[in-house]
Amino acid sequence: MHILSKRFDCEIMNYSNEVLLCDLSLLAKTENINLSRFLAYIQEISHRGLHVEKGYSHLSPFLQEVLGLSEDEAMKRIQASRLCRRFPYIYQLIEEGYLNLSVLCRLSRHLTEGNHRRILDEAKGKSVREVERLIVREFPKTSPEDKIRKTALPLSIDRYWVQFTTDSEGVALLEKAKALLSRKYPEGKLNDIYKEALSKLIEELEPKRAKRDQTEKEQRKEPSPAARQVTHDERHQITSRYIPKHVRGEAWEDAKACCQYVSALGKRCGETKFLEFDHVFSWADGGSSKTASNIRILCRNHNAWFAKVRFGERVNLR
Ligand SMILES: [Zn+2]
Repeated sequence: MHILSKRFDCEIMNYSNEVLLCDLSLLAKTENINLSRFLAYIQEISHRGLHVEKGYSHLSPFLQEVLGLSEDEAMKRIQASRLCRRFPYIYQLIEEGYLNLSVLCRLSRHLTEGNHRRILDEAKGKSVREVERLIVREFPKTSPEDKIRKTALPLSIDRYWVQFTTDSEGVALLEKAKALLSRKYPEGKLNDIYKEALSKLIEELEPKRAKRDQTEKEQRKEPSPAARQVTHDERHQITSRYIPKHVRGEAWEDAKACCQYVSALGKRCGETKFLEFDHVFSWADGGSSKTASNIRILCRNHNAWFAKVRFGERVNLR
């Protein structure tokens, strides 16, 4: 224990019951005010994109790494801060101790411009359980949420429980895939079908480095008289910011399929979702789309960040 905390721990033993209770109440009030301000700060940081500038693709890893919050604590605060921006009335309710983060997160998907006042007033001072009952009454559930979680069995370290809802088309597709794969997977285990389907999908969607020999051969090939007539599409590709497939594949592989943004202090983002291709030397300023060295991979937030820095565009950074 820190030396000051230790000293205070001894000091507090001498407090009277009245002082102890009074101080506790004051501390709770201060905590509520601080929470409300904390949420406002998160919103402003998000609005300015300061976390993005520091090399984080989202607020959550920023709050975890810089402030030491747990993932759950960070997510709850982010969710609550977004709600506060939409409905500033929430700031007041938090400061007055009527709403806590757990209650707010339960309500987050259900609040709208039209209903938030009524629902928030009804949720004032209620426990999480009471608010869950309020939600069930006001917004009856249509289907369970999608879930992925590790099984709790001690001998299944590498096993996950996946749960999601689908429609009749989803079931028909699954049955068809099962039938087509029946020779390969006679037992028809959903895990085999699921992995096979995802592998095929990733293979199709992931940009690949084109075979260099093939590309070079195509570039060297003398065009036939018929091919000399450049089509409209080709002309469009030559003069537009269009990035050829083989260049995209090369850039993708060089970036190892993750965001290449590096902050001034050397923090690399490394995000693997919502990736976009970006010109290092801007296409508008004459940067080439045809060489992989001028193409980089950025996550959505860092691409938006560069647009903001370069062109002063108004962007929403998450
Ligand atoms: Zn990024």
